[in-house]
Amino acid sequence: MRQKILLSEMSWPEISGYLKENDCIIIPIGSIEEEGLHLPVNVDSLIALEIAKIVADRTKVIVAPLIPFGYSEWHMEYCGTISLMTETLIQVLREYCGSLISHGFRKLVFFNPHIGNVAAISQVGFEFRKKFGVLVTMANIWGIIDKMGQEVDKLSEKSFRHAGEMMTSMVLAFRPDLVDMTKAREGVEKPMLGESNNRAPGEILFHGYPIEVYQRTKETSNSGIMGNPTNATKENGEILINKICEVLSNFINKIKLT
Ligand SMILES: [Zn+2]
Repeated sequence: MRQKILLSEMSWPEISGYLKENDCIIIPIGSIEEEGLHLPVNVDSLIALEIAKIVADRTKVIVAPLIPFGYSEWHMEYCGTISLMTETLIQVLREYCGSLISHGFRKLVFFNPHIGNVAAISQVGFEFRKKFGVLVTMANIWGIIDKMGQEVDKLSEKSFRHAGEMMTSMVLAFRPDLVDMTKAREGVEKPMLGESNNRAPGEILFHGYPIEVYQRTKETSNSGIMGNPTNATKENGEILINKICEVLSNFINKIKLT
């Protein structure tokens, strides 16, 4: 039988057997929020889980159940967005990670594409290091993808943009049935202080340098699209997925040994 990679599909003796060999686990966390006119609201969650499954297959480190929502309040004007306050999310993570730790997991690796979850994850990560001596780490998925843009010749958009070319390409690679390219269009942005938005709502590039500006998505873009997804392709999505899975597999293989 193929080794199971999802904790939720294992029996308790299988999980306790795994812990005798390995105390590392991947925790995918995402969001339910607008991702423009052409993508579903679960993009962050979908990407976190699908990448986690590939990395788990390669490293034999299992995947904890997806945490499907996070802090996405600034998108709330768009229908379907579901948001937990950071205080709530911190408490969810304390109890969720606390359960894993009580069973013997000592290395918790978050795969997180959503910027709104960073504050909660780092709070619990630092707290649990002090309290239990465990290691909590977080791979900022879109942050890594942003750095990879320059390495993929065929991409027209070389930096990551919310609902832009890179994100759309990756969803095309995983779930083409969920992408409606007839609705994809270049985002019409409303520049703040005369400067364009950076990767996502809430960030501007001021004279080329990133500065956070906390405003509603509605104030920054008409459609919720921040870049130009019209050149997105499945092929470029596959290239980005391979690249990030290689980096994250190497990271997990290294952290397993610490
Ligand atoms: Zn997001």
